[in-house]
Amino acid sequence: MVTPVLDVKKLKTSFFTDDGLLTVVNEVSFHINAGEVLGIVGESGCGKSVTSLSVMGLVPALTSKVEGEILYKGENLAQASEKRMRQVRGNEIAMIFQEPMTSLNPLFTIGSQLMEAIRLHNKKLSKKEAKQQAVTMLKKVGLPRADELINEYPHQLSGGMRQRVMIAMAMICNPQILIADEPTTALDVTIQAQILELMKKLNEETDTAILMITHDLGVVAEICQRVVVMYAGKVVEEGTVESIFKKPSHPYTKGLIQSVPDMRQKKERLFSIPGNVPKPGSLPIGCQFAPRCSYAHEKCLKETPYLKALSIEQKVRCWLYEDEKESIV
Ligand code: SF4
Repeated sequence: MVTPVLDVKKLKTSFFTDDGLLTVVNEVSFHINAGEVLGIVGESGCGKSVTSLSVMGLVPALTSKVEGEILYKGENLAQASEKRMRQVRGNEIAMIFQEPMTSLNPLFTIGSQLMEAIRLHNKKLSKKEAKQQAVTMLKKVGLPRADELINEYPHQLSGGMRQRVMIAMAMICNPQILIADEPTTALDVTIQAQILELMKKLNEETDTAILMITHDLGVVAEICQRVVVMYAGKVVEEGTVESIFKKPSHPYTKGLIQSVPDMRQKKERLFSIPGNVPKPGSLPIGCQFAPRCSYAHEKCLKETPYLKALSIEQKVRCWLYEDEKESIV
């Protein structure tokens, strides 16, 4: 049996607010094996980014509460000290964000920022060796004229180039896991495809597992092997990409798939799921998707569905499958 590199069990992240404790991520469980690409998908506000920030220990400790287990190679990071988390971040689990400018310092050259990351990881390296590594890494992520680029500032680069620099920086320490939070959302479609291709290549060449946080099922289809669908802080469906695309079971997953534009079909209007994701403080009783669900029935308005195994590779949280024969998982 494969031991997952990351095994998140019943993760619950809540924030202290004037209105009391608000739970944004509610008993979320998933795992990633070494070298695997797992997608977490859902609309804005469904809790996917808070999930990834909780794994990284980046939710503010004074205003939040993180419960459950975040097992990284068996070590529970939810209980780890800040000192230990600083070692884990960057070295073992790296993260890239939607907008690279929020992570790159506009006052320093690309080279000095990369070299700093390299020397933090390996203090024995000379400045010259670190510079050489920085150039090699920039070439590895497909950036042209890497020797000149290290002397340039972030604002001199295009969005796609900056995201490549961020990927280079994240991959410098050969992390076990790369968390990518909407890494292509701010980019043009052609550049998006190039960045996904690069991530796929790095994932194949190294054994780095990727946790891809996205609202875009197109990205999931492109790069992931398994997918977890989140809604209102909970996992509502999970499975292999093949099973989810072939036989989406949760009405929310079906809606997300229907919302993906299909170039082969001429449609008057694109489909969109009616309504919005409810706010954490005002979740409906019963199934939280009920106000937006065309299949909602009486039970959905009273009782919260549980995550049920439909097959060895697919689970769903919906009362429509209550009577289906359960598989052993
Ligand atoms: Fe829709 Fe009911 Fe299933 Fe919720 S439990 S998704 S409301 S059918």
